[in-house]
Amino acid sequence: MEKRDDVVAYLNRTLEIDNISDYCPNGLQVAGREQIKHIVSGVTASARFLEQAIAAGADAVLVHHGYFWKGESPVLTGMKLERIRLLINADISLLAYHLPLDVHPQLGNNAQLARLFGFNVEGRVAAGGTDGLLFHGSLDTPLGNDEFVEHIATRVGREVTAVGRSNQAIKRVAWCSGGAQGFVSAAAALGVDAFISGEISEQTTHEARENGVLYIAAGHHATERHGVQALGEKLSEELQLTHQFIDVDNPA
Ligand SMILES: [Zn+2]
Repeated sequence: MEKRDDVVAYLNRTLEIDNISDYCPNGLQVAGREQIKHIVSGVTASARFLEQAIAAGADAVLVHHGYFWKGESPVLTGMKLERIRLLINADISLLAYHLPLDVHPQLGNNAQLARLFGFNVEGRVAAGGTDGLLFHGSLDTPLGNDEFVEHIATRVGREVTAVGRSNQAIKRVAWCSGGAQGFVSAAAALGVDAFISGEISEQTTHEARENGVLYIAAGHHATERHGVQALGEKLSEELQLTHQFIDVDNPA
C-alpha cells in the first residue's frame, strides 16, 4: 500500500512533467482515496475502461488519454460528467500522462515501440513543439517495403494502412505514436525510408508519395498501448502496489 500523493509524486518526477508543455494537465486529474494498493492502467479513461477497472478492484487508474483537453468545454455535462461520476462514486483516482509518456526515453510509447518493432534508437528530434517527440533509428537487417509492412502488422497484431513507397529497402526509420501523421515531411527530412505513426489523414498519402517514403498507420490505440504498461510495471517494481493493464479494444 502506498499513499496516493507519493505515487503521484513518483510518477511526476519519473516523467519530468514540469519540463513538458502539453494541452492537458499531466498527473493527478481526479483525486480518489488516499491509499493505493492496486493500480489499473489503460490507454484511454473511457467509461468502458473505468467500469472494468472498478470491477478489477482499482484504487487508481493510470492512463495516456485523460480529460480536460485544451479547447474543450470546461463544463461537466454528458459523457464527461458520467465518466467523472464513475470515478467519484468508486472513490478512485485518475492519473493521466500524455506527452510526457510519449517522449520518455525508456518507458514512453515511442521507446516501447522501438522494442516492439526491433528498431535501434539513434536519435530523437523535436516535433510539433515538443522536444524529443520524433524518434528515428535503424533496422539491423533491411526489409523490402512489403516485408516491412507485414513485420509492423504482425507486431501490433492488427491490419495496418500503408501508403507511399521507398525506392530502396527499408533500413532507416522514424516513428511517433498516436496521431502524428502530420510529421511525415519532418520524418522524411531525417532521410528515413519509412515513417510509422497511428493514424492517417487524406493528405498523408500525398505527403508520403511526394517525399518518397513508406508511411504506415499502425493504429492510434495500438501504438499507445505499451508506454502506460511499462510505467505501471515500473510502479509495481519500485513501490508497494500491484498493477494490471486492461485493454479496451479500439480499431482506430
Ligand atoms: Zn494519443
